[in-house]
Amino acid sequence: MKILRTKNDLKEAICKIKNLGFVPTMGSIHNGHISLIKKSKYKCDKTLVSIYVNPKQFNNKKDFADYPRNRIKDLNILKKLNVNFVFMPSTKEIFSEKRVKKILLPKNQKILCAKFRKGHFEGVLDIMDRLIKLINPSYTFMGEKDFQQLFLVNKFIGKKYKNIIIPCKTVRNKNFLALSSRNFLLSKKDLKQAGQISKYLFKLKFSLKKNNKFNNYLFNKKKELQKKFNIKIDYLEIRNEKNLTTLTKNKKIRLFVAYYINKVRLIDNF
Ligand code: AMP
Repeated sequence: MKILRTKNDLKEAICKIKNLGFVPTMGSIHNGHISLIKKSKYKCDKTLVSIYVNPKQFNNKKDFADYPRNRIKDLNILKKLNVNFVFMPSTKEIFSEKRVKKILLPKNQKILCAKFRKGHFEGVLDIMDRLIKLINPSYTFMGEKDFQQLFLVNKFIGKKYKNIIIPCKTVRNKNFLALSSRNFLLSKKDLKQAGQISKYLFKLKFSLKKNNKFNNYLFNKKKELQKKFNIKIDYLEIRNEKNLTTLTKNKKIRLFVAYYINKVRLIDNF
């Protein structure tokens, strides 16, 4: 496994590879990331994993500082998986070139997490654009766990390069909680409660299929959930799975949620 820290080393290492799979991560590798890596290894000749905690996508300095980091453990896991390359750039390295045109999210996309985390997706799109341009992969593997991220990267970056973005199913633990690096910040008690919330939301999604008047129903469910688990909820919304609009009648729908357990913000969709 080659560990690459500079753009030059990266270019030199991968320039001759035809069918390269790319798995972008912020590290603290868990089974969700591993499922993406396994998919890439199956589909591609070589796999490159990036580990970079991107400060530009954090709208809160403390959240960035507290984000779990565990490089030695990460590298051990990736080595055991026979990953070919790990790209771990510094901020100076990856952001050395100034952008001529600032990335701005259109107004109609300021929904869900974009509404509650100012500048978050602009930061995500910036780093993903830089990474994909640099790595030039054949395929990039991304999780449905971060559905809005997957949607926006596909919409604004996917078509810019020849790279194809492959959506991957959310991996959950035995309590049905979606795996996330942020789960490492939760106590045992919090994890149990987050699992109960996931089960509640999973059932809620299926009850919604029969119910067309989502708005009032969800408003009440949000209140009920807040009270039952004593949590702060940023949003609990049903959206059209294809374009994330609120046009949901006779369309495939998804339930989106963002909430806080002990100041740790979790997101999921069902
Ligand atoms: P992150 O390190 O959180 O930025 O995630 C890196 C990639 O892994 C993103 O494409 C995520 O959507 C994906 N991912 C994170 N958690 C999961 C999960 N539980 N199941 C599947 N993919 C995941």
